Amino acid sequence: MVTSGSSEPTTDNFECARRQLIAEIAQEARLAASFTGRPQLAPKVLEAVARVPRHEFVHDRDRAFAYLNEPLPIGHGQTISQPYIVALMTDLLAPTPEHVVLDVGTGSGYQAAVLSRLVRQVYSVEVVPELAAHAAERLSRLGYDNVEVRYGDGARGWPSHAPFDGILVAAAAEDVPAALIDQLKAGGRLIIPIGTEFGQSLQLIEKDAGGTVRQRLVLPVAFVPLVRPYRLDDENSNAGR
Ligand code: SAH
Repeated sequence: MVTSGSSEPTTDNFECARRQLIAEIAQEARLAASFTGRPQLAPKVLEAVARVPRHEFVHDRDRAFAYLNEPLPIGHGQTISQPYIVALMTDLLAPTPEHVVLDVGTGSGYQAAVLSRLVRQVYSVEVVPELAAHAAERLSRLGYDNVEVRYGDGARGWPSHAPFDGILVAAAAEDVPAALIDQLKAGGRLIIPIGTEFGQSLQLIEKDAGGTVRQRLVLPVAFVPLVRPYRLDDENSNAGR
């Protein structure tokens, strides 16, 4: 977990905006409760969101908008997710300080930063090489030392670090990738948007101690699609590593 270092936003100008954002996330959680069954998110999750400087994860020109409860463009046709969705997905993962988690779709690195405050280690995979490189540089500069980012197809997971206590996917798949279920620990949770551009739902998939998988719909959502790259050469892909 990050406990010190430059990521502590104690002296920046956004403290007030971040606290306001937390109030909006809490309000949206109440409004969405009839879908999610979660009128309140765990206080430690809200606290983690309150401590990550989201303005560091958006374009300079968007800094003034960083604490709106909205997605924002991050280049390459991708977006940093809406803060409420980041908080909800993190909450659904039920993170604990011993957990090792996989984050699919690094994007800006924001979700990975939030997770890194709550778990022991985050492995994050991004399919756009420039986004992966930029997020890795940013996370390291901000002191998130327990996050490792690599370029590759997240639908294949990250076999050399599996199994994971939790897996969080920030792009929509038509079906749950089998590799991700395989790489989930017994007792683990996978949070993933399932569907197409015409409609998606966030799903919580739980694997019980016997390996049986249960799937539950949480909320209608709109994520970018999970890209299925048909060619990632072995040197750059994470297959088998
Ligand atoms: N978690 C991100 C949100 C990123 S949006 C954040 O906090 O900023 C979804 C991301 O998933 C995009 O960056 C997109 O490039 C990435 N993505 C799409 N398909 C992917 C795949 N097959 N493997 C890994 N990343 C993928």
